[in-house]
Amino acid sequence: MQIVSSIATMQRLAGRWRQERRRLGFVPTMGYLHEGHLSLVKRARQAAGSRGKVVVSIYVNPTQFAPSEDLSRYPRDLKRDLSLLRGAGADAVFTPDDQTMYPDKAGAAFSTYVVEEQLSQVMEGAARPTHFRGVTTVVAKLFHIVQPDVAVFGQKDFQQAAVLARMVRDLNFPVRLIVAPTRRERDGLAMSSRNTFLDAEQRAQAVILFHALRAAAAAVKKKPQPSARLKADLKKFITAAPLARLDYIAFFDPATLQPVTPVRRGTQMALAVFFGKTRLIDNATL
Ligand code: AMP
Repeated sequence: MQIVSSIATMQRLAGRWRQERRRLGFVPTMGYLHEGHLSLVKRARQAAGSRGKVVVSIYVNPTQFAPSEDLSRYPRDLKRDLSLLRGAGADAVFTPDDQTMYPDKAGAAFSTYVVEEQLSQVMEGAARPTHFRGVTTVVAKLFHIVQPDVAVFGQKDFQQAAVLARMVRDLNFPVRLIVAPTRRERDGLAMSSRNTFLDAEQRAQAVILFHALRAAAAAVKKKPQPSARLKADLKKFITAAPLARLDYIAFFDPATLQPVTPVRRGTQMALAVFFGKTRLIDNATL
């Protein structure tokens, strides 16, 4: 497994693989890897085929964090990540530093961003106004650096995958996106690097996100439910976990991300819940 931190080296390596007519699968991450990430690597390996190559990037992208958010305390453990990726069969890991990705040279600092203007406005985009600009910008850069044929993202970040699919279509990136299912802990909590911030009590209560998704699915299985009423019921349901502070619940059309009512089977639900300073998200098709 090759470990690459310079853009020129990564582009040379990717260029050589392309010349050898190898299909390239790519999995962008912010590191502190868990089984969810590794399932994306496996999916990328499958998509790339036996002669193909898989590149994983590990980069905690500062432009997708607001100044008030958890950039400096975001968990990192490169040594452990590299050993997990060796086990998962990655061929190369791209781990640039901030100066490489966002040069801040006096008079010639980084100043170009990619902005998706529609799907990025709701839910996570409303709660975190500069977040998706950071995501689309860094993924556009990574696509130019790695030049993948296929890139794999997690359904866990449903809106992120939708925004990136729109960017790929609108800006004609020659990349096929695959969205892979959410991996969960035994009790149903979606795996996330941020779960490590939870203390034992918060961790026990964090499963409320998954239970809320299941409760909503059960409710709409019987009959369509007015969105406002279902939201109010679920809000009560979630505050039964005393450490949970609800940020939002959304019911929306999975293609347009626009709110829908009534909520039926097949409607997409997403929610964000704080436990202390830690903000968890989850989503499902009801
Ligand atoms: P992150 O390191 O959190 O930026 O995530 C990198 C990629 O892994 C994104 O495409 C996420 O959607 C995906 N991912 C995160 N958590 C999970 C999970 N529990 N199951 C599957 N994919 C995930």
